[in-house]
Amino acid sequence: MATEKNVNTLMENVSGPVLCPGDEGYEEELSAFQKAYRHNPAVVVGAADADDVRHAVRFAAEHRLPVAVQGTGHGLTVLDEGGLVITTGRLAQVQVDPQARTARIGAGAQWKHVSAATVPHGLAPLSGSAPHVGVAGYLLGGGIGLLGREFGYAADHVRALDVVTADGELRHVTPQDEPDLYWALLGGRDNFGVVTSVEIGLLPAARIYGGGLYYDAADAAAVLDHFRTWTASAPESVTSSVGMIEYPPIPVFPEPLRGRHVVHVRIATTDLAAGPGLVAPWREIATPIFEHLGELDYDEGGSIYREPDFAHAFHGNNVLLRELPPEALESVLRLSGPGAPVSCIMDLRHLGGAMSRPPEAPNSVPFREAQYILRVLSGLDDVSEESVRAAHKAVYEAVAPWVVGRSLNFVYGRRTSSEVVGEVYPEETLRRLADLKRVYDPNNLFRRNQNISPAE
Ligand SMILES: Cc1cc2nc3c(=O)[nH]c(=O)nc-3n(C[C@H](O)[C@H](O)[C@H](O)COP(=O)(O)OP(=O)(O)OC[C@H]3O[C@@H](n4cnc5c(N)ncnc54)[C@H](O)[C@@H]3O)c2cc1C
Repeated sequence: MATEKNVNTLMENVSGPVLCPGDEGYEEELSAFQKAYRHNPAVVVGAADADDVRHAVRFAAEHRLPVAVQGTGHGLTVLDEGGLVITTGRLAQVQVDPQARTARIGAGAQWKHVSAATVPHGLAPLSGSAPHVGVAGYLLGGGIGLLGREFGYAADHVRALDVVTADGELRHVTPQDEPDLYWALLGGRDNFGVVTSVEIGLLPAARIYGGGLYYDAADAAAVLDHFRTWTASAPESVTSSVGMIEYPPIPVFPEPLRGRHVVHVRIATTDLAAGPGLVAPWREIATPIFEHLGELDYDEGGSIYREPDFAHAFHGNNVLLRELPPEALESVLRLSGPGAPVSCIMDLRHLGGAMSRPPEAPNSVPFREAQYILRVLSGLDDVSEESVRAAHKAVYEAVAPWVVGRSLNFVYGRRTSSEVVGEVYPEETLRRLADLKRVYDPNNLFRRNQNISPAE
């Protein structure tokens, strides 16, 4: 039990805020990008440094409180009730070493903080579609980046992690010194400790060619089919995706898109010279209603997907596909496009390339044979979670013959571990993760997550 007296002792040891229900600032500390729900811990610790994390984990272990971690709250799926939550937003320092082409990043930083610091040095991180996503959660779940086909999963570029494990120790984890823990953290996410900082390799990719072409949804069948054939022979230097979305009629979106159901093709490549030629065939499929394509600085990469950066309530999931036959696409269009039973945002990303190869330093990011990831999500403002789940389930069932698994990063919405864990790891990977969980967290302190139970 965390009594008031105990919490006062924790406060004396911790430099960031320590808050309990009813305290001023408690709600704000727990506010997240996901707005459908939030953690309700007995204590929240706003870590100001790694030492705060160490004290918080020791306190939780001593008082048998489960520990959960929150960065930005983009990937909140399991809620804490009555435990201890550590928020990492204050750990946002970014230090770039341009000679070594590395960055050391506080676990609470967002990708926009990182690329702002690296681009002036001609370097880029392997970040994803939204610059406001948190570095730690993204990397620990794999990290499907804007340039993924060319360079692999973002996790494959992690050189070292500083992590507080369940025994309250701060460890510096590298593939050389702690290969098992390194392997488990990158893929096993928050099951093995609280990451306080990471060191990543950077890419000489400060300028890219990329952007998006938007078509009216009436052209969806032709555009999706072209995506299928185009990606079948696209070079590894190109990473692309196609989405379907009904834009709300609000001014944050470009005028031609407002209030319209569209198909959105997104492209990114470091091959600046080849970019325009690669895009040309897309203009012959149908006439785009809007496009923005060209060379851009890597820190403008958020314009490729144009995802909203304001907190909202949403639910979604994904499947990883080994192939993309025409009948799969027909079902996706019918069940998640215009006329679907609930309004859906569909996102189909091309994987493969370097993402299919094993990383230099082994990690537990699985299903590298997947060639595509299909995601479906919906806002929860006007529709129940139950009807959203039913509509999405129909899409995933229709593509089931080609599914190899799911990506942990793109599981959104309140879900139990039993629903998720068996689908995001192959059996052998899960067994090794459970064995290592028994070594590093035998009492399952880190269990308010998509939980890997310690092996018996
Ligand atoms: C708009 C949007 C765009 C996205 N685009 C991409 C994309 O292009 N590619 C991609 O791969 N993913 C993408 N994601 C998914 C995103 O990577 C995951 O949701 C990720 O978990 C978010 O991490 P976070 O720290 O921002 O969020 P949080 O919700 O704070 O954390 C997510 C998970 O990571 C764990 N975690 C966070 N920090 C730590 C830490 N310091 N130590 C241990 N565990 C920690 C948490 O416990 C939690 O389980 C996107 C998500 C959204 C909402």
